[in-house]
Amino acid sequence: MIEASCHCGAVRMEIEAAPAELLDCRCSICRRLGALWSYYAPRQVRITSPEGATFIYKWQDEVLEFHTCRTCGCTTHWAPVDKSHDRMGVNARMMAPEIVAAAKLRVSPGPG
Ligand SMILES: [Zn+2]
Repeated sequence: MIEASCHCGAVRMEIEAAPAELLDCRCSICRRLGALWSYYAPRQVRITSPEGATFIYKWQDEVLEFHTCRTCGCTTHWAPVDKSHDRMGVNARMMAPEIVAAAKLRVSPGPG
């Protein structure tokens, strides 16, 4: 089990395992966020944050919701709008640097 949190600590995540691989996605939003994504099934990630600690950003076809801490501005994770989808993304920048360093980095050009 590993832990991740935003800078101020309002959003904390307990994650089943460290990521083996991270995705540096270059799509229009991820390149702006500077996020490194690790992917999990939602059941593998326990998020403890007060109700309303994050704001949600959705765009275009609104498949994903990006969660950002209202206090410190860190984008912590994304979740599928359709909760039957068994995949979510955790921004590995919220994890300890040694966890990020140990993972294999993959670069995706993204859809634009
Ligand atoms: Zn925060």
